[in-house]
Amino acid sequence: APAAANAGQPVAAAAPVITATSVKVNVSLPEAAQRAAATGADGVGLLRIEHLILGLNKTPNWFIKNGKEEEFILELYNGIKTVLDAFPGKPVWVRTLDAPTDEFRNMEGGEDEPIEHNPMLGWRGIRRDLRSPEQFRMQVEAFKRLWNEGYDNMGLMFPLVGHPDEFIQAKAMLAGWGVDVEKVTLGIMIEIPSSAVLIEDFAKCGIKFASFGTNDLIQYTLAIDRNNEHLTDMYKPKHPAVLKLIDSAIRVCRDYGIECSICGQAGSDPVMAEWLVDHGISSISANIDAIAKIRHAVARTEQRILLEAARKNNAQ
Ligand code: PEP
Ligand code: MG
Repeated sequence: APAAANAGQPVAAAAPVITATSVKVNVSLPEAAQRAAATGADGVGLLRIEHLILGLNKTPNWFIKNGKEEEFILELYNGIKTVLDAFPGKPVWVRTLDAPTDEFRNMEGGEDEPIEHNPMLGWRGIRRDLRSPEQFRMQVEAFKRLWNEGYDNMGLMFPLVGHPDEFIQAKAMLAGWGVDVEKVTLGIMIEIPSSAVLIEDFAKCGIKFASFGTNDLIQYTLAIDRNNEHLTDMYKPKHPAVLKLIDSAIRVCRDYGIECSICGQAGSDPVMAEWLVDHGISSISANIDAIAKIRHAVARTEQRILLEAARKNNAQ
């Protein structure tokens, strides 16, 4: 066969798929930052910081008790900075610490963790930070250093918020520690049904975004332990009650002009992504390996919506 005319020429990269709905990526480890950025994601919709801390094998309280706060702060600062540097100018939502007490139990300092019957319903997420201001403050110190260095694309996302008062209290603590809370981007995860039900009250108290943490939202809506292998068949992301909560919260966010996103595992499912775009979500954050298929699912859905609108317009 004759040699192709462009033999030996570099193959042009495929044009990036453009979507109106942002497609972002979830990151748990700074080592994955480059790989995450190479997906072409529009930002980081969830940066989990637990792994940075759990990797040190000491509880947050251990650092406070032993006067080693700087070690904790630097670990967070360096880990988050690596991710921010991989996403220049793109939004990166850093989630404040969210680990249940049982994950800290066997670490240094673990003996001081409260013994809980139901750690997943216990002292984790924003609750832990509000009741342990010293622990919250160490995190905020790391965030402040990054904001002061000009990383204003970094936003903070509070996990396991159930009532607007918790957001108001967290914001007041940040302000008390010198953060310009009107300037920085602060938002919540919708993981407890109460926060979906009360989303309008959250909107009124100044959240800049809300992101569905469906891994938890499903378990708390359906009373199905997300880690119980005997009930996996009942753990249904598309359960009508879950979808109804999501749909109603998206509507309120749209009414208030608040970015509404998802960072739970359900956002990595193309069928769910299509449903979310149809229901008006503003962004979807998926796993690194799912970005390409989610981008295509979003693009296909947006194209169908446009086509339907054009046909309707044409028929008038
Ligand atoms: C979630 O609950 O959907 C979530 C993203 O948080 P995590 O899985 O870390 O609890
Ligand atoms: Mg969660």
